[in-house]
Amino acid sequence: MKPESRYQEYKTLMGRIADLDFANAVLGWDQQVYMPKNGSEGRGRQMATLSTFSHELFTSGKLEGILRDLAEEQNLDDSQRFNVQRTLKDVLRKKKYSEAFVEEMALTTSKAFGAWHEARTKRDFKVFEPLLAKIVELKRQEAEFLGYEEHPYNALVEDYEPGLRVSRIDEVFDQVKRELFPFTREIAARFKPDTSFLAKTFPKEKQWEFSKRIIEKMGYDFESGRADDAPHPFCTTFAPGDVRITIRSAENEFNMMLFAAVHEAGHALYELGLPQREQYGLPLGSALSMAFHESQSRFWENSIGRSLPFWKGQYGTLQKLFPENLAGVSLADFYRGVNAVEPSFIRVEADELTYHAHIYIRYLIEKALMSREIEVKDIPSFWNDRYQEYLGIRPSHDGEGCLQDVHWSYGSFGYFPTYSFGSFYAAQLHAAMKRDLPDFDGKVERGEFSAILKWLREKVHVHGKRYSSDELLTRVTGEPLNGNHFMSGMRVKYGALG
Ligand SMILES: [Zn+2]
Repeated sequence: MKPESRYQEYKTLMGRIADLDFANAVLGWDQQVYMPKNGSEGRGRQMATLSTFSHELFTSGKLEGILRDLAEEQNLDDSQRFNVQRTLKDVLRKKKYSEAFVEEMALTTSKAFGAWHEARTKRDFKVFEPLLAKIVELKRQEAEFLGYEEHPYNALVEDYEPGLRVSRIDEVFDQVKRELFPFTREIAARFKPDTSFLAKTFPKEKQWEFSKRIIEKMGYDFESGRADDAPHPFCTTFAPGDVRITIRSAENEFNMMLFAAVHEAGHALYELGLPQREQYGLPLGSALSMAFHESQSRFWENSIGRSLPFWKGQYGTLQKLFPENLAGVSLADFYRGVNAVEPSFIRVEADELTYHAHIYIRYLIEKALMSREIEVKDIPSFWNDRYQEYLGIRPSHDGEGCLQDVHWSYGSFGYFPTYSFGSFYAAQLHAAMKRDLPDFDGKVERGEFSAILKWLREKVHVHGKRYSSDELLTRVTGEPLNGNHFMSGMRVKYGALG
C-alpha cells in the first residue's frame, strides 16, 4: 500500500478515537454542569463504555500494525514522522495496562470518589483511608509495570509532564525552599493590605459582565466556546472551535469569579490555538503537557490579571460597575488587596507566593508514598506537620487539610508538581515576551491583548506536542526552565508592593 494511504488510515483511526474522547468530554461536562443527581449511575456507565471503546481502538493490533509499517516508511514528512513515532510510543505505554488492572482501578476510583466526598464532609480521613490505601497500592503496581529509572514516582509523572524526573523536581523545589519560602515569610510578615472591600456584596450578573468583558478582550470568542457555572472551574474541549469553560462565583468574594474566568480562558485560548483541525486527534494537534497547559492559564491569571498595568487600565470600569463598594478604594489599595499574601489552608484559594508550599507538601507525600517511606495512614500527621513547618499553620481538621483535593480519589498521582512548574514556565514566558514586544506594559494597560495572544499562538500553541517543555522554552526564551525568572518577577512585584 502507498505510504500516503497508510498514513491516511492512521489519521482516520486517530480521528475516530478523538471523536469518542470528545463525545465523552461532552458527557463529562454535562455531568458537572447540568445533569440531575439521579442521572449519575447511567452517565457513569455511558462514559465508561466510550472510554473502553476508545482504549480498545488505541491499543488494537490494527493501529499498532499501521504505525509499525509507517515507522519503516522513508517517504513521510517531518510532521507525519513525528506523529507516527509519538503515537507508537503512547500505544506501547498504554498496552502495558492489563484489562484487569484498568477495571480494578476504574472500580476503586469510582467508589473512592464517593468516599472522599463523604470523608471531606465529615472531616474524617478514616472514611477515605481504606480506598485510598487500595489506590496507592495500585499506583505502586502501575509504576512497576510501566517501568522507571531512579524513582517509581517518575513513572507516574510521565503522564502529566513527559520527561520530568524526581531529580529535576527536587532541584527546582530546592530553590523554592531556599529562596521563595523565606521571601514569602518576609512579605507575609510586613505586607498586610486591607482586603475587606473584596468581601462586600458584588452581584453575580455584574461580576460576570466584567469577567466576560475581560476574557473577550483576551481573545476568547463566544462563537467558539461558552461559559457555564459549575462547582469547580475547568476548561474542556469538544471539537476544534468548541472549547468551553466553567466558572464559579461568590457574591461576597470578588476574587473568585474573575480570576477563575481569566485562568480557564487562558487554558481555552491554548486549546483554540492548537492546530486541531489539520492535526485532529494527533500529537501535533494536542497540548504539550499538563504543566504547559497550566503555564498558559497562569500567565493570563497572574502575569496579566494580577498586574499593576492591567488594573491601571481596568480599575475605572470596575469602579463604575460597583461604585458603592469601590468608589472610596484607590487603585493602589485595590491592587494591594488582590495581591495579599497570607498563609492559608486551602490550596485553590492561595496567593501567588504561598501557593507553592501547598504543592511542595503534596509532592513530598506522593513521592514518599511511592517509595514506601510512608503509608496512607500516616498522611494526616505528615500533612499537618509540613503545613506547620512550611506555612506556620496547622489544620484543625482533615477537611481543611489532607482531604481538600479530589486528585487522589481519581488516582491522579504526579499531577500536583505541574501546577508549580506551570507557574514557573509562565514567568519565564512573561520575561521573554517583555523583551520581544515593545511597550508590553502599555499594551496590557490599554487592554490590547492581541499582540500577546499572537505571540503565544506563534511561539507556543502552534507546535502541539512537537517539542518537550524544556525544548520549547529554549526555542522561545533561550534557555530551559530557569526558576530565577519566577523569583525575580516576585521580588520586583512584592518589593514594590510591601
Ligand atoms: Zn488550570
